[in-house]
Amino acid sequence: MASKVRKRTVKLLRMSLSRAKCLVFAIFIIATNPLIAGTCTAFSKKLPNVGRELCEAARLQPTNSRSVNGQMIWMRDIKPDHASLRVLVVGAIHGDEPSSAAVALHWIKLAEEAPADTRQAVYWRFVPMLNPDGVFSQPSRRVNAHGVDLNRNFPTPNWQRDAKVYWEKRTGKDPRRWPGVKPLSEPESRFLFQQMQSFKPQLIVSIHAPYGILDFDGPLVAPSKLGRLYLDQVGIFPGSLGNYGGVHRGVPVVTIELPNATRTPLDADTRQMWLDLQRWMSERLGPVQGVASQASR
Ligand SMILES: [Zn+2]
Repeated sequence: MASKVRKRTVKLLRMSLSRAKCLVFAIFIIATNPLIAGTCTAFSKKLPNVGRELCEAARLQPTNSRSVNGQMIWMRDIKPDHASLRVLVVGAIHGDEPSSAAVALHWIKLAEEAPADTRQAVYWRFVPMLNPDGVFSQPSRRVNAHGVDLNRNFPTPNWQRDAKVYWEKRTGKDPRRWPGVKPLSEPESRFLFQQMQSFKPQLIVSIHAPYGILDFDGPLVAPSKLGRLYLDQVGIFPGSLGNYGGVHRGVPVVTIELPNATRTPLDADTRQMWLDLQRWMSERLGPVQGVASQASR
């Protein structure tokens, strides 16, 4: 009798726990939906070749991090079971390169459409717009709301000495390239740094514009081309993500420089870059099932 009562109590407890979980989930959906809807309205107005439909289909997820002006830094995880490779894709580190955020959103769609065997291999984390304050300022600005070039704010060795000297001597104190007062002084760069600590990506893809080339930092053989973009390694800068991630931490960083900051490549080119990236990943980062056959089609 006592065991029957105990079983019934456990059953009731389980039921109320699952109801509580449903309730929390429902509250989360209700709370974030208007935020996502508002975000997608803003994204589709500001980003080239991004309609509301594409943005909403990307199902961006809120994070605990916000920009200097309090704008949400959104991300999206696509995590199949048994994923063997973690890849972080970052767009719009520079706010005046909106095409980079657009391409990241298109890639979310492609990642979701990938054949099941491909999806099983890669855990994607997309951060399509790291610098929302830069993107949404009028006009868009490279730097964040503190005037910091986020791609010079990462803690490379000797940052305190080199970043300032580089800014003064090599850029002539260009305000678009100010590295900030200290490494990781900005919430946006701190967010990406935390992602590197917790998500531990084995590859970082950083999307920029408008130089129309491909750059690479890190321990692997670089991809020679992605779509129409060819490898042209431009060297490293104090405090850049490529320098910090690729050279200092040994995580390969593919830097894509799209040919135009305010226009995306044609959708076919965006797709080809995606396929070429995965083909290179399967060659250099271990077997990514199904990718080679998909890429050669
Ligand atoms: Zn850039």
